[in-house]
Formats: sequence, C-alpha cells, structure tokens
Amino acid sequence: MTTNPRVRDWTEAELGVPGALREVVRAPAPVLSARGSDVDPTDPAVVALAADLVATMRVSPGCVGLAAPQVGVGVKVFCVDVSEHPKTREHHGTFVLCNAEVVSGSRNEKAREGCMSVPDFTGDVKRPSRVVVRGQLPGTGEEVELEAEAFEARALQHEIDHCDGLLFLDRAAGAHAVYARKTYL
Ligand SMILES: [Zn+2]
Repeated sequence: MTTNPRVRDWTEAELGVPGALREVVRAPAPVLSARGSDVDPTDPAVVALAADLVATMRVSPGCVGLAAPQVGVGVKVFCVDVSEHPKTREHHGTFVLCNAEVVSGSRNEKAREGCMSVPDFTGDVKRPSRVVVRGQLPGTGEEVELEAEAFEARALQHEIDHCDGLLFLDRAAGAHAVYARKTYL
C-alpha cells in the first residue's frame, strides 16, 4: 500500500482555528439516519466543524473517527485517526475529509465494530479490507485520493457510512451479529 503524503502529513493545525468540543449524539437521533448534505470545504463553518470533530475525537477514549452527523450536523464531513489503535498497520495519521466516497474496494473481511453513537453494542460487519477513497480537504478544498487497508479502511468506511445516514447496525448480518458491549475499548 502507498500512503498519500498530502493526507499523511496533514494536521489540524492547517485549519488555523482551534477546535471546540461538541456533544456526541446517540441513536436513535434522526440525524444519524439521514443522508448528509454535500459541503463547500472552503466554507469557514465547515473548517470550524472539521476542527471541532478532531478536538472531540481526541478527548474520546478509543475513538478512531467521528462524523458530522454524530455531533448533530447532517453534512458529509468526518475525521479519522487510527494511529494509536493497536490493530493498526499502515495509516495516514489524523485527517478530515469532506464529501468523501469509496471509489473501489476489495478483499471482504468480517470484524467487530463499535461506535460512540451506539455505546451499548458492538457488531460484526463485513467490509472490504482494502479501499480507495476520494474526498476533499477542509480549508483548501483540494481533491485527494487515498488507498487504505485493514483497520484504517474499516474506519473510513464506517465514517463514510455515517455521512450517508448508516450505522454499523445497518451493516451487521442480523441480530446474531450484534453484541452487548461490556467496556468501551
Ligand atoms: Zn460510528
């Protein structure tokens, strides 16, 4: 896998605004089930939202990604950072994408997922373990494409799903693939 250096070297300092903590909403909040709107990544409100998502992800133990609908804003913006997670192999560090989509995926793999918006459950979800994702960086609006695999690929698809109004529960094979959570991590 080759990492995209522009994405890998991106940090929230590029946004130029401090992030504020936002409250994370939980299912069944309707915003979690609604398809998010496209955004203008250069809009100052989107830049502020990007900074807030990163700040909120950072203070949340075990959190490897957070999407705008999870803080009650129905738009296509999310952040990801799997660098601290023990299951991580190669990754792009912290980044935020706007209007992102999965361009291609391969090698389906089943793995357990959790979500801050569904705190009481985890679930087994089958997803491609290698994906190409395209989106725009907040602030500059640059179009970027990145290749991700393994845990980062899963985190990206989970967050893109949030932006499309889907939770991991919608992707689980059925009630037999959903488990009560004992600890958050
Ligand atoms: Zn989630």
